[in-house]
Amino acid sequence: MFISYIISFFVFLFGVCIGSFLNCLIYRLEEEKSLKGRSFCPHCKHTLFWYDLFPVLSFLFLRGKCRYCKAKISLQYPLVELAAGIIFLLISNFEFRISNQIEIFQFLNLAFLFYIASSLIVIFVYDLKHYLIPDKVLFPAIVISLIYNLTNWQNILNVFIALIIAAGFFLFIFLISKGRWMGFGDVKLAVLMGLLLGFPNILTALFLAFFFGAIIGIILMVFEKKGLKSEIPFGPFLIAGTFLALLYGSQIIQWYLNFFQI
Ligand SMILES: [Zn+2]
Repeated sequence: MFISYIISFFVFLFGVCIGSFLNCLIYRLEEEKSLKGRSFCPHCKHTLFWYDLFPVLSFLFLRGKCRYCKAKISLQYPLVELAAGIIFLLISNFEFRISNQIEIFQFLNLAFLFYIASSLIVIFVYDLKHYLIPDKVLFPAIVISLIYNLTNWQNILNVFIALIIAAGFFLFIFLISKGRWMGFGDVKLAVLMGLLLGFPNILTALFLAFFFGAIIGIILMVFEKKGLKSEIPFGPFLIAGTFLALLYGSQIIQWYLNFFQI
């Protein structure tokens, strides 16, 4: 039992470190820079040293300010690191929940899910900040998911149906609204969702995305931060729905069915 806590702790730590790398990736995507070169403060361009780069801890220790110029460090940095840690932990619990016997294909699954989760985190943050889904991150994720699906032939029809439903639905909304209600990025993201979730799990993800979207939309309208006409990126809701459906899809459907039997 104790050993599983130790493993969980290291999985969390690994996720946090990947989160730190994802922050760096997001910044370089925004600035269209390559991934080479040392980390630096985006405000004063001072090179950051190893003691400035501890995920989460450096942020807390420096109280959210750059050591050199005292500019505020965005909350995005610790939040993405923590989110990646928690999501990696949930994924590993999900992958090893079935049996105590660990098999090699589970490690492949785990690596695949870690990769997909990382891509989705980057898309989530980028869409939230810039109302744009970066193809540079989305396209490789689609290709790798496609290859991954080809290794599991029995599932291929399911996945194909899910893909047609999700992408078709968003393409329809995109076309009738001439891109005002949904961007084309959402259509492309829906392709990835179909590949990841299959049928009927894709319906759970879409339902959750619209459910969260409606709640957040109402909250924002009540506080008058956004009017009906203003834009909220839909990608983050789709991604939240995808994570929940991927990890808890069958429980959510079971809960939903039980709810209506009472
Ligand atoms: Zn600085």
